[in-house]
Amino acid sequence: IQCIGVLTSGGDAPGMNAAIRAVTRTAIANGIIVKGIYRGYRGLITNEITSLETQSVSNIIQRGGTILKTARCDEFRTPEGRRQAHDVIVEHGIEALVVIGGDGSLHGARDFAQEHNFPIIGLPGTIDNDLSGTDLTIGYDTALNTIMECVDKIRDTASSHERLFFVEVMGRDAGFLALNGALATGSEAAIIPEISLEKDQLAEMIEQGFRKSKNSSIVLVAESEVTGGAMGVAERVKKEYPQFDVRVSILGHLQRGGSPSAQDRILATRMGEAAIEALLEGQRNVMVGLQNDELVLVPFAKAIKKDKPIDRHLLDVLRIVSR
Ligand code: ADP
Repeated sequence: IQCIGVLTSGGDAPGMNAAIRAVTRTAIANGIIVKGIYRGYRGLITNEITSLETQSVSNIIQRGGTILKTARCDEFRTPEGRRQAHDVIVEHGIEALVVIGGDGSLHGARDFAQEHNFPIIGLPGTIDNDLSGTDLTIGYDTALNTIMECVDKIRDTASSHERLFFVEVMGRDAGFLALNGALATGSEAAIIPEISLEKDQLAEMIEQGFRKSKNSSIVLVAESEVTGGAMGVAERVKKEYPQFDVRVSILGHLQRGGSPSAQDRILATRMGEAAIEALLEGQRNVMVGLQNDELVLVPFAKAIKKDKPIDRHLLDVLRIVSR
């Protein structure tokens, strides 16, 4: 392989820049030319491509977001759009791609690789941690730390006013941020889409936590149609318990920003290096994953399967320690 392309796609995540840097520098160290593709798959169709040199990725390891920008691209969902993208790739002499993104981006990568018999290595870049075959995704740890800082602040006001707070966190139908965020902040409960929390469970939680020993409570709610989000949960609780002072806080895009944590920078750097090594070994159409602190290669079909299990024991731990 003489020339590769690298792109970031879908939702941005802190640590994507560290991944771009590691991919670029490892490729150059192996004598491979690197082309940076702007705005994810859209840039492949609109031909927004630049050469990346060693210096192009200087001073970015500590920056959130992605210097290559990211976008959502509906054309790439169609075979015709992917054919246009392939034409551009051929025109630039790009022989393999490294795609950094979430579930949707890896779906697109799989389709493109199959249709055009083209080598792609994926890196899991998403704050949601919802890709199978990897214990962690790039950006998740930073987002978790951001949630922790925000909820610590909410706790100050919650306890001063004796309020019941429902804090909505991201996760796009995955409870990793909500559950582990709740553990990290000493929240009373996590309402997550993987486990339908029956109404009486919520009632039990409220009565045990809020009434007996505590004068304030914080519950993390994963954004999801299943949970109804923090607003949905708060409405239900207000009806049942009009005596409580219920408040909602939606953390929103705060969770995507900020300088990546040490863990995310290291993970992104290890994975970026591994992506190039994998290509050199002739691997293709796999995502680099982390399992028990070892890097592994996971077929796209497995990574996007949406069957990553949440550790249910952690819910018990949360229940016990928040009494
Ligand atoms: P993420 O990668 O963070 O999950 P999206 O779901 O928005 O973000 O996906 C990013 C892009 O990947 C989409 O805009 C689209 O171009 C492409 N994509 C997503 N899903 C598919 C799919 N099923 N088939 C082909 N391309 C897809």
